[in-house]
Amino acid sequence: MQLTIEKAETLKEKPEDTKLGFGTLFTDHMFNMDYNPDQGWHNPRIEPYQPMLMDPATAVLHYGQAVFEGLKAYRTDSGKIQLFRPKDNFSRMNRSCRLVCIPEFDEAFALEALKELLKLEERWVPSLFETSLYIRPTVIATDPFLGVRESFTYRYFVILSPVGVYYPGGFNPIKIWVTQNHVRAVSGGVGEAKTPANYAASLYAGSQAHKKGYTQVLWLDGIERKYLEEVGSMNIFFVIDDEIITPKLQGSILPGITRDSVIKLAKHWNLKLSERKISIDELISAHGSGKLKEIFGSGTAAVISPVGEIKYGEQSLTVGDGKVGPISMRLYTALTDIQYGKSEDPMGWVEPI
Ligand SMILES: *Cc1c(COP(=O)(O)O)cnc(C)c1O
Repeated sequence: MQLTIEKAETLKEKPEDTKLGFGTLFTDHMFNMDYNPDQGWHNPRIEPYQPMLMDPATAVLHYGQAVFEGLKAYRTDSGKIQLFRPKDNFSRMNRSCRLVCIPEFDEAFALEALKELLKLEERWVPSLFETSLYIRPTVIATDPFLGVRESFTYRYFVILSPVGVYYPGGFNPIKIWVTQNHVRAVSGGVGEAKTPANYAASLYAGSQAHKKGYTQVLWLDGIERKYLEEVGSMNIFFVIDDEIITPKLQGSILPGITRDSVIKLAKHWNLKLSERKISIDELISAHGSGKLKEIFGSGTAAVISPVGEIKYGEQSLTVGDGKVGPISMRLYTALTDIQYGKSEDPMGWVEPI
């Protein structure tokens, strides 16, 4: 496939690195590619960033047939730009596609096209440590048709957004709320896909959590409402005694790339790490006996997010001393050092542009 490039006539003004928020601002160009049954994926092109004109009957608007990804481009101290495990994002995106009947795309081509887009948008990758250029590849169903079936046509696009830290508080412990009344996903559903339905399903409980002063919801499993699953946009880890525990992937949890990186680093450091079921009762009793040392979330947006407090029903658990724990700190430093090229890359995770 031949990639075409149409450059924007005027370029936007770029904010200072210190003023960056999250997801509010987009760069000058975007990548687009279309699918139809005759041509497959075709017409890959970089174009000026622009609104999309859509028929009001467009399938994605009614039935949510779509998938997306989230990764970042980082600038190193020497000015180079690099990605973190991007091949894993594209292979997960194709797995998400399969779960919602979207035709798969060529992962190697998608990575090449992303690199071309990043070369053109190079000036938008901020330099300050902890800032980055967030990358959002997305596929949407585009048939103008009302009726529940998979679409015949699709649009793949990539937009870029320069970002600062995800939580306004920065690298500080957050408070999370374990909801008993709502569930996000069940095994056999689409919880393991990065598809909009999961996020629509999470909004009501999320807004209740915000009203109560909690940053995010920690979901319990959809069947027994007993086992801890994940947070809205992060996977979750618990440190009980000397064991680091993360819930096992069983179809309802998003298989995070940061989660996998934490597992691999912990094993590399010879720490005891288990992927297993962990119930809210186990967590409460570990807290009661003083064995609950740390809780942290993992995800591309916030990297490692320490949790200082958990609320479940009437109970409120302070984790450790409510501050950032040593394992959270060590993982955050190790991951960001690799991402920003401050240390060696022993796992071969970095992909230069
Ligand atoms: C994206 C996401 C994660 C984190 O995945 P990473 O690959 O680590 O960014 C975790 N949970 C949900 C629900 C997500 O959407």
